[in-house]
Amino acid sequence: MLHLLAPQTADGILKLKEQLAGDSRAHKIDLGVGVYKDEGGATPIMRSIKAAEQRLWQAEDTKTYTSLPGDPAYLDAMRRLILGSDVAESRVAAIATPGGTGAVRQGFELLQMARPGARVFVTDSTWTNHLSILAHLGIEAVPFRYYDPATHAVDTDGMLADLAQLEAGDAVLLHGCCHNPTGADPDPEGWRALIEVMNARGAVPVIDLAYQGFGDGIDADAAATRAIADGCAQVLIAASCSKNFGIYRERTGILMAIMQDAGLRAQAQGALTHLNRQSYSFPPDHGARLVTMVLDDPALRADWQAELEGMRARMMSLRTDLAQALAEASGSDRFAYLTHHRGMFSRIGASPGQVDRLRDEHAIYMVGDGRINIAGLNARDIPALTRAMLDVGL
Ligand code: PMP
Repeated sequence: MLHLLAPQTADGILKLKEQLAGDSRAHKIDLGVGVYKDEGGATPIMRSIKAAEQRLWQAEDTKTYTSLPGDPAYLDAMRRLILGSDVAESRVAAIATPGGTGAVRQGFELLQMARPGARVFVTDSTWTNHLSILAHLGIEAVPFRYYDPATHAVDTDGMLADLAQLEAGDAVLLHGCCHNPTGADPDPEGWRALIEVMNARGAVPVIDLAYQGFGDGIDADAAATRAIADGCAQVLIAASCSKNFGIYRERTGILMAIMQDAGLRAQAQGALTHLNRQSYSFPPDHGARLVTMVLDDPALRADWQAELEGMRARMMSLRTDLAQALAEASGSDRFAYLTHHRGMFSRIGASPGQVDRLRDEHAIYMVGDGRINIAGLNARDIPALTRAMLDVGL
């Protein structure tokens, strides 16, 4: 009966990777896949993670199971990293998950368990895997206006007008910072208005936080998440350690459910633990343990913060340098949005035809919707990218 399986379309980014590997041009530039790269194009293991791994190898004396929701020390360290001290511990239920993707998947499953038929409103556009996981689960995704291609910023009025269609029990999927794929985040006023409309309509926020520390800093990037956790009665937060700890393949994430009070917290914790049990029993532990060691050891944590800050600063200076090169070459300030965007990504407004030309004529690779990974750049490539963007008419 397995011959009945319908063929699946290949993920766009993975297809891009194959094309890139087959391109023999030495000057090719990879702005596609969403991993952080240093000036030399490498994705190194962070110093603090390497040190934690060494200590763990020496100290770990068992590989027996942890607990079903994950190691309590990890859940606690991540709660404090994401929520600071703004949200009472007694409101927070949590499970460790395989990466941020696992957290997103479990979050959607939880919504469906609580309320079959619940809809999820999604930013137009959003990370493509959000849409495919929702489709896989048979959950209706309702896009709302988010990114204005003319200003390269959030269309706050359009967003709020569309969210007026929310019904009680719907969920709203938001990116806590560093929106993927556009790079545009709401301003503080926009976040306040979002909280207001979600509360007025009785909708549940689901926050995907995959890039804490990549935008304006560790605490600044969590500010919107904390405001929502403080201002809404029930909130789901799906967070990833892949990028900010550089442990992509270790599959380390967390899903938190923030409830009104301790009684509801216990109910949510039961459902979350059940979800882990049904999906894979015990979540992966190695990456979670490294993260806990880094966060709980003052010296390792200071070194992690310094290295993460260096990565963030590199992305910000690439943004400034690219915007400046484009301003000089074009004699216009229409590329200033690059410095307003945050995180690894910016949508540069390239049409599918322009994306093809950038690849075929200039050996510059990006996702089909015109998303570039800023961290894929280096100082040497900025002149070539500048010329190419203007040559294809951006
Ligand atoms: N959410 C968003 C918006 C992302 O961009 C990513 C990574 N591409 C994830 C979640 C999940 O990442 P991972 O599963 O690798 O932790």
